[in-house]
Amino acid sequence: MSMLTLYTRVLELLGKEARLGWVLAVANLLLAAAQFAEPVLFGRIVDVLSGKAVAGSPSAWPFLIAWVAFGLFTIGASAAVALYADRLAHRQRQEVLTGYFEHILQLPLTFHTGTHSGRLMKVMLNGTDALWRLWLGFFREHFAAILSVLVLLPLSLYLNWRLAILLFVLCIVFTALTTFVVRRTYGMQMAVEEHYSDLSARASDALGNVALVQSFVRIEAEVQGLRSVADQVLAAQMPVLSWWALVTVITRASTTITVLAIFTVGIALHGQGLTTVGEIVMFVSFATLLIQKLEQVVSFINNVFMEAPRLREFFNVLDAVPAVRDRPDAIDAGRLSGLVEFKDVTFSYDGKRPAVEDLSFTALPGQTIALVGPTGAGKSTAIALLHRAFDPQSGFINIDGMDVRGLKLSALRRNIGVVFQEALLFNRSIADNLRAGKPDATEDELRLAAQRAQALEFIERSERGFETNAGERGRMLSGGERQRLSIARALLKDPPILILDEATSALDAVTEAKVNTALDEVMKGRTTFVIAHRLSTIRNATRILMFDSGRVIESGTFDELVAKGGRFAELAKAQFMVQENARASMLPHEAARAPVKG
Ligand code: ADP
Repeated sequence: MSMLTLYTRVLELLGKEARLGWVLAVANLLLAAAQFAEPVLFGRIVDVLSGKAVAGSPSAWPFLIAWVAFGLFTIGASAAVALYADRLAHRQRQEVLTGYFEHILQLPLTFHTGTHSGRLMKVMLNGTDALWRLWLGFFREHFAAILSVLVLLPLSLYLNWRLAILLFVLCIVFTALTTFVVRRTYGMQMAVEEHYSDLSARASDALGNVALVQSFVRIEAEVQGLRSVADQVLAAQMPVLSWWALVTVITRASTTITVLAIFTVGIALHGQGLTTVGEIVMFVSFATLLIQKLEQVVSFINNVFMEAPRLREFFNVLDAVPAVRDRPDAIDAGRLSGLVEFKDVTFSYDGKRPAVEDLSFTALPGQTIALVGPTGAGKSTAIALLHRAFDPQSGFINIDGMDVRGLKLSALRRNIGVVFQEALLFNRSIADNLRAGKPDATEDELRLAAQRAQALEFIERSERGFETNAGERGRMLSGGERQRLSIARALLKDPPILILDEATSALDAVTEAKVNTALDEVMKGRTTFVIAHRLSTIRNATRILMFDSGRVIESGTFDELVAKGGRFAELAKAQFMVQENARASMLPHEAARAPVKG
């Protein structure tokens, strides 16, 4: 993405505010024009005072009055431009920030697994800040400065080409120098930004795992790690700063040299009668104005250049596409009954090795389908295809006879409830967390759901009841409590289809019994897909699909599969064996309390 494309995108992001942007641009144009009046009038007045009649007027008054009029216009217009540019930039920053936030929430989970949330936050805040600064600068001074330079140069040529050549030389020096330094430092600034993003990701990673950091006595190591990234940021930033400092020194020096040159050449030309004193004064004012504008243009280029890596990161995230989108003709079929069919479904993450292959099965409303098999066999992928985290490369998935790709994503997902393996909770009150399932749930409904999910007792035990905060990622609650809340949340959502990613971690026997009761409750009357680890769910399943390397190698009820004596029978036997061994080696009271897996 070239700088120009990048900057065009910055302006395109003005969106709805573009019209105000145009008004500001025109105001800037007028301001730029008004600024030329000053040096011209100044020169004329000097000529009048030195005894020359200018434009047929022997008096300086008309020029002075014109000057006052232009001055008043400039003050009024500048104030209005500054005020409206400020408001526009602030409004649009919030707009873009919200849009970015919505966009990243829609991105596939694979994107989020690969990108740390700390980095995404940093990209969001820095990117929108950069946009804000560029918009503000553009409308407040940069646009006017660019226009001024574009008008001033030809105008000076028209007024006195001999003196104008000096201004042209100055412009060439500025342009060449800036281009050189931009080229020289571009890669370096990208590296700075990259290190800076690492810094954010690292800090937020440590903060997100603060318990780990403290218990493994890693505070010093983490601080040291952060410091070393911070040192890399500084090491990469310093040379860039030095180069730009050099630009400042050289541009200042060329400015002084140019003004002196105008005087010298002016005096020589005056001696030959080729210019007037007024014209020399006018040119010096011109030169000062032009230099001021050139410096603004250089600072503008510097700004764009410094912000470019930030913006690039921002646009990269903004350009990441959600894996699936609504088709234009997608429909909302309301509440579905839960008849799910997979027909020859094949999906591959990398386009080479299929993660699921030729998957076909039917689940009637209310049935329970258990997906079992070793890690990496394709169970999660099959389930991800059902709620359209991805779309299959071939085959199709129907619900109630309709291809899921023909349904609106929101409508599809409203019909599917998920109880995640690791119960995900917001850092909000328990009530707010439950209402994620049903935003308008009444207190009675919350209580009922909590009771059915075996959660009411522990909620009421805590002082603030449903107003208790769950903590970041639900850290204020135990694993079993989090699971029961996530079941209550699914109960409130009341979807016809349920996905259950069973937790592998062992719970104590009492909690496990409670969670199982809650699960039985939430599975009632729903088509349920379980990525199963507990033998109890497997035993009661309508059908068990045994996965291996992306294919279903056996399918049937528990008893059928055990009788068949194949891979599932082996697995079942192995699980019972493990438990028998584990329990046999415990003391009797430990065995009684040990988690019963199965
Ligand atoms: P299971 O749920 O049975 O453990 P998965 O469905 O997670 O299996 O994985 C099936 C295959 O797809 C595995 O080979 C796994 O490495 C691969 N896989 C899973 N998720 C991704 C992903 N996001 N990107 C690339 N490959 C993946």
